[in-house]
Amino acid sequence: MVIEGGCRCGEVRYTLAIDDLPLTYACHCHICQRWSGAAFSLQAVVAEAHLSVTGPLVLYEKVTEDRTSTQRICGTCHSRIYNTNTRRPGMAVVRAGTLDRSEELRCVAHIFTAYRQGWFPIPEGTPSWPEAAPMEALAALLTGRQRA
Ligand SMILES: [Zn+2]
Ligand SMILES: [Zn+2]
Repeated sequence: MVIEGGCRCGEVRYTLAIDDLPLTYACHCHICQRWSGAAFSLQAVVAEAHLSVTGPLVLYEKVTEDRTSTQRICGTCHSRIYNTNTRRPGMAVVRAGTLDRSEELRCVAHIFTAYRQGWFPIPEGTPSWPEAAPMEALAALLTGRQRA
């Protein structure tokens, strides 16, 4: 099965060289709310080497204290597609809503829920953290090593 996605206008398309749709997590922090314009961002973490993109990507670099986040955006319609981060070399954080078949995605964790919009309830049984999740715990959930 080929996992594919793309931007709103269709000029940027990508494929993921993985066997099935990736598991995702929701981040409710204020930065993600501002960047997405939504209640939370829904993200999948994949090896950057497994991601191949065609189309007019442009870069936006955001430098904060100890890291640089490089956002990849469609140069035509400005949809954010994915980012890399100097704290996690080799990994790409894909905006999961850009995946084809996004209606089939599963969300296995919620982080920064202290900033959650009050109308959205965290589904019962789904792990959540008020601030950042420990990297290892989140990785275990996203790789399916630990069942949600
Ligand atoms: Zn586009
Ligand atoms: Zn966030």
